Amino acid sequence: MIDLHMHSNYSDGTESPEWLVEEAVRKGLRAIALTDHDTVDGIPAFLAAGAQAGIRTIAGVEISVDVKLPNRGHMHILGLLIDPASPSLKKTLDHLVKERRVRAERIVERLQALDIPVTLEMLLEEAGEGAIGRPHVARVLMSLKVVDSIQKAFDYYLSPGQAAYVPKVKLDEAGAIQLIHDAGGLAILAHPHYMNFDSVAEFRHKILQLQKLGLDGFELYYAGMPERVHEMLKELAETHDFVASGGSDFHGDIKPDIAMGSGLNNLLSVPDELLEELDSRKSRRFSE
Ligand code: AMP
Ligand code: ZN
Ligand code: FE
Ligand code: FE
Repeated sequence: MIDLHMHSNYSDGTESPEWLVEEAVRKGLRAIALTDHDTVDGIPAFLAAGAQAGIRTIAGVEISVDVKLPNRGHMHILGLLIDPASPSLKKTLDHLVKERRVRAERIVERLQALDIPVTLEMLLEEAGEGAIGRPHVARVLMSLKVVDSIQKAFDYYLSPGQAAYVPKVKLDEAGAIQLIHDAGGLAILAHPHYMNFDSVAEFRHKILQLQKLGLDGFELYYAGMPERVHEMLKELAETHDFVASGGSDFHGDIKPDIAMGSGLNNLLSVPDELLEELDSRKSRRFSE
């Protein structure tokens, strides 16, 4: 078993990179990838812990893409097998993390305007070393007893259309894929079903468009994906030379129903053969 999508406390997960490796060992996983939002700062500790524990640890990142999608859909692209020391990657991610901080200040202003006693210091403390995001705000709102669940924090304050929603600075589709390729990684569309298209044909069309921009593959294995989307993706992977990846999107305590390796409600199973496929795709892409 392998798991190629998870978050640490360097973004909005609750566990350290070292803990992720220990958990993978406990679960008997062969390989795991760390894919924090907009940062690779957790990767060195992750790789070191993996080498020590004797399991394969893969450097990754998850990038949010600026694209208009229906039904509040969103697009995230994973970079897998990236070089975390890539200067262009570091430069762009540093910019995105700085913009997240500016955004956090604006969220604080909006919450204070609603007489909620949140401060930037509280958010920074909650985020720790991490790239600051809405889940950190949600946790602070819970600790202040403004809401009694993460979900309510999003529903009442943090989601698009709510009073404290502030959009994030994002790369466009081509920019995100290029960034990943420049860092020597493969660009994999994360949880494709979250793009929220109304029809399977629209999903298919968008993914083929992304392939023209260099997309290498997508997540086929992701617990909770609607069956009709999964079937379409399976066909697309077989007929159009996409790498079929997958993972749990583990975040630790903030998403307690998601387990490493086995995903939401233990519905996930990612085949080990994917590892060889990723490696051969990487050598193919970068030998061209
Ligand atoms: P950000 O990158 O700061 O915009 O935050 C995105 C994170 O918020 C992702 O990890 C999502 O899983 C989480 N998130 C987005 N919408 C919701 C929601 N309605 N309920 C819980 N978590 C959410
Ligand atoms: Zn996240
Ligand atoms: Fe995501
Ligand atoms: Fe994720």
